[in-house]
Amino acid sequence: MQIKCPHCNKENRFPIDKLSSIPKCGICHRGLLSVPITLNQSNIDELLTQKILPVLIDFWAPWCGPCKMFAPTFQAGAEKFAGKIVFAKVDTEAEQMLGAKYNIRSIPTLVYFWQSKELGRVSGALPPAQLNELALQLAQLSSAK
Ligand SMILES: [Zn+2]
Repeated sequence: MQIKCPHCNKENRFPIDKLSSIPKCGICHRGLLSVPITLNQSNIDELLTQKILPVLIDFWAPWCGPCKMFAPTFQAGAEKFAGKIVFAKVDTEAEQMLGAKYNIRSIPTLVYFWQSKELGRVSGALPPAQLNELALQLAQLSSAK
């Protein structure tokens, strides 16, 4: 899978089956998945079709106040559930095709996936306790033990 390191912004590639072992950036050596990863049209399908970890996507936009307020909550979740759930973000401003494809009508919207299927979605910024509860349920699906 090809993603930009969320810390140093350098392109990284790692085998998708290494997802649960929390791959590190080849340049700065920090965890690539301990912060939400940025998805785009070229890497989202590979992530959604893998069968190792459930995926939780925050559809957001830079101009959205509630999205910005929710970002630290989502970030904390990514850190806590690294290796169990992939936390990812789609900037619906930069990736308008993805916003349309996944039928995002308001932001922030969280959509969660397991093995290519959408399991559910929730709109609006979740309080940390609710995000934690959702993540605990999702984490049980993980086939990484
Ligand atoms: Zn890096």
